Amino acid sequence: MSRARRENLPLGEPPAPAQLQEAVAGAICEDGIGLDLAFSLFKDVIVPASQAVDHPRYFGFIGYSPAVAAVILDMVQSAVALFGTSWIEGAGSVVAEHQALRWLADLAGFGPTAGGTFMNGGTASNLTGLAVGRDWWQGRNPDDHGRLAIAASSEVHPSIRLAARVLGVDIVPVSGDERGRLTGARLRAVLRATDARVFAVVATAGTTNSGAIDDLAGVASVCERDGLWFHVDGAYGGAALTSPTARDLLIGIERADSLVIDPHKWLFSTLDCSALLYRDARYARAFLRQDAAYLDAMHGGDIWDPTDYGIHLTRRARGVPLWFALAAHGTAAFGAAVDASIRLAQETARLIERTPHLELATEPDLSVVIFRRHGWGIAEYEAWSKQLLRDGIAMALPTVWRGETLLRLCFVHPETTLDDVRAVLDTLAPAAS
Ligand SMILES: *Cc1c(COP(=O)(O)O)cnc(C)c1O
Repeated sequence: MSRARRENLPLGEPPAPAQLQEAVAGAICEDGIGLDLAFSLFKDVIVPASQAVDHPRYFGFIGYSPAVAAVILDMVQSAVALFGTSWIEGAGSVVAEHQALRWLADLAGFGPTAGGTFMNGGTASNLTGLAVGRDWWQGRNPDDHGRLAIAASSEVHPSIRLAARVLGVDIVPVSGDERGRLTGARLRAVLRATDARVFAVVATAGTTNSGAIDDLAGVASVCERDGLWFHVDGAYGGAALTSPTARDLLIGIERADSLVIDPHKWLFSTLDCSALLYRDARYARAFLRQDAAYLDAMHGGDIWDPTDYGIHLTRRARGVPLWFALAAHGTAAFGAAVDASIRLAQETARLIERTPHLELATEPDLSVVIFRRHGWGIAEYEAWSKQLLRDGIAMALPTVWRGETLLRLCFVHPETTLDDVRAVLDTLAPAAS
């Protein structure tokens, strides 16, 4: 599976806003500036001012590593006006997206009632899954009109807190274990002690910060016993379902009521592509489908419409580039590419352990490595990170984990090598500080 490469696009600091605004000033005007000039602005100003997030030494946030096949299909797709809303307008893309979603549902261990759609990102998918969960819970508790709440670990992605704000519900925080993981026992203790009306629990299958995987089976048991919606945020780590070595870490995911996996993060798809799956898709459809006389004709197909499973109507068929890359390269290539990053994280951890001035903060579960550099604090970490980018060596950012500022490297690019990592770790040597 080959990957898009932009060799000439270096890692670097973003330009000053004024300089960039100056460069595009007047581009939008009454008579237009013409195709040639507009394209040179795009090519020479806009593209170089976007960070090479697909660079093999991009270790910040969560990088981007689309397969060439996905990139090509993404380009073609706009040209042929592929429509992703419903069967009547886009049967072909609906079938392709279904196939890709079914692959993910099978990996998760969901049965035949599963289904979902591709959303623009994990943020929208998390919000939608929890909105469906609230409707489901209210259907089962019709006389309960109090303010509701979601239980989630303190390591949860901020999009869960945003979802709570949008839904007008509270968050009941559950502190994680020594590795930051939400466990069934901790959840049970918090639920017993709180007065809040909890309708859903969010577990994370691979936290963004450290890659930690919550105790999914333990959390599932609590949800089943208490009649709570079980939402699993696997926006980053759900990709590990493809990995023969890591998939056992995700046991319990098959009991999720809603599940989010972002193929634009670690499954080699183009931006933007987030899979939102429901174990039983009927609740989602009953809650989310938009009805109007002029939409009746749309609801005619035997196969469900992607538009009915998310907060959207018109949509691009953003799952088709994933489908194409899967069809072209096979699922084994995806598993091998995910495994490459997991293996690299393990090798990096061993390298850190052998380096006297470095110390691993926690054993990596997936492809995020967090570690300390002895003798350094926030100021040194930040200065180091800026210098690394200025020198075009790598993108790597500090983070805070369990109250301590640390260094974090996240791998999602299968072509990143241990030498790439060494190049970064070398800059942390005492002589270089
Ligand atoms: C990135 C991420 C999200 C948000 O996904 P977007 O696609 O950026 O909206 C949610 N949860 C986790 C665990 C993530 O890593």
